[in-house]
Amino acid sequence: MHMDTDYLVVGAGASGLAFADTLVAEATVSVTLVDRREVPGGHWQQAYPFVRLHTPSAYYGVNSLALGDNRIDQTGENAGYYERATGENVREYFTKAADRLTQTGRVRLLLRHEHVGGGSDGHQVRDLATGKVHTIGVRHKVVDARYLEASIPATHAPPFEVAPSARVVPVNELPAVARSGLSYAVLGSGKTAVDACMWLLDNGVEADRIRWIRPRDAWFYNRAQFQPLDQVAGIIEGLAIDAEAGALASSIGDLFERLEASGRLVRIDPSWPATMYRGTMLSVRELGAVRQIEHIIRLGRVRRIEPDRILLEEGEAATGSGVVHIDCTALGLNNAPGTPIFQPSRIVLQQVRHLSPCFNAALIAFVEAHRDEDPDRNRLCPPNPYPSSIEDWPGMMSRTWRAEGRWLREPDLSAWVAGSRLNLLRDLPEHAAEPAAQSAVKRFGTNVRAAIERLGRLSNGSSSAEAPEER
Ligand SMILES: Cc1cc2nc3c(=O)[nH]c(=O)nc-3n(C[C@H](O)[C@H](O)[C@H](O)COP(=O)(O)OP(=O)(O)OC[C@H]3O[C@@H](n4cnc5c(N)ncnc54)[C@H](O)[C@@H]3O)c2cc1C
Repeated sequence: MHMDTDYLVVGAGASGLAFADTLVAEATVSVTLVDRREVPGGHWQQAYPFVRLHTPSAYYGVNSLALGDNRIDQTGENAGYYERATGENVREYFTKAADRLTQTGRVRLLLRHEHVGGGSDGHQVRDLATGKVHTIGVRHKVVDARYLEASIPATHAPPFEVAPSARVVPVNELPAVARSGLSYAVLGSGKTAVDACMWLLDNGVEADRIRWIRPRDAWFYNRAQFQPLDQVAGIIEGLAIDAEAGALASSIGDLFERLEASGRLVRIDPSWPATMYRGTMLSVRELGAVRQIEHIIRLGRVRRIEPDRILLEEGEAATGSGVVHIDCTALGLNNAPGTPIFQPSRIVLQQVRHLSPCFNAALIAFVEAHRDEDPDRNRLCPPNPYPSSIEDWPGMMSRTWRAEGRWLREPDLSAWVAGSRLNLLRDLPEHAAEPAAQSAVKRFGTNVRAAIERLGRLSNGSSSAEAPEER
């Protein structure tokens, strides 16, 4: 069977859907999305049962459809902050978003289809139900919405050996295996491991029954500074802190000391050096809860798990018989190296503004629709790889601020950014007269150029090689 389309989007996760949603809103084109999975929404379809967004729902998803009701949670670890969708909410949302797209009559969704390659005569997709390969003729471009495909616990291969009698389960199975009286070893340093620890504590497991194997300690943002809408002054306060710290930092160590001293970043154990930074966030309540866990094993990465001990890079630790190991070691965000986003006949979706995957996919679609030349498009959308360690923070922030400076000089793009529900700062103009917002905007403006310059030098990365420019 032969099909034709203007754009072929490979991957119907959040990025592919957010791209298609904005592209069909901004251009009269046809789009075909293909995905191996049976349902749209990408990794969320196999997320662990107690996952939630770590950011508010208010600026997550596709541009044309709100997620949630912008409620402020009254209880729990998110009390006082804007609601965060559960995994189930996110899955329902993406199903609805995909339905709305297909109802435009310009979007076709081929689920359980795998993109297997392409050439001048078209792109081949295999129907995973029948094994048949179809050819799709692509008039404009192929959009790679899987370059940064997430690595998740349900599908990744654990990077360690497991002795036959040791009990190791992916975090997805934690609610099913948990029983009173069991002890647990949580493997991993990131947000998923924090979620597993929180789930155990919330379900009555005493902190001294939990061992936490942390190969490296992580920095997290303070969730208070990611609240949009009526609390947007906190977001600009956070960015002002970033710019002030960036303008003054003499080294990466000094930078993170400044960010911690100002309350921008937190770590679970302030007495232990933290080297991991993946851009996730915690509330003060979450931080307080997981700090109850005192049995931390820091001997590098896990090599092998045996029934009553763990062998690690730098030694071994006894765990006791019957312990259940919870695997939270999947990478999550994919920190593949940056590659040009706009290439001949191809678009490779990546991060541009830091830590805003849905916003970035929609932004790239807007630029595709409204600019004619790839060099101009790439100027507005330079790739900005996801971070993994503290060394990645300076380059990531300076690349974000450089790109944002370019958007400000493009009236149509600035107007789109200002109105997009995916833009976490969207409500700033309405709150600009508040003293806290005014002060933060001023401090940000005073420091951002110096921060770009200094962080560029600290990063040793591509941004340090770029010439300074007006912001
Ligand atoms: C647990 C978790 C929580 C997160 N929470 C947040 C949050 O709160 N806020 C936030 O902004 N970000 C969050 N993120 C970041 C997250 O990566 C994005 O939110 C987003 O869901 C990623 O979507 P994606 O489309 O880029 O990738 P994916 O969801 O991985 O989708 C890629 C898709 O491509 C398909 N695919 C791959 N190869 C092929 C092929 N050859 N043919 C056909 N299909 C193919 C896959 O089947 C998959 O469905 C979170 C990430 C994780 C892992």
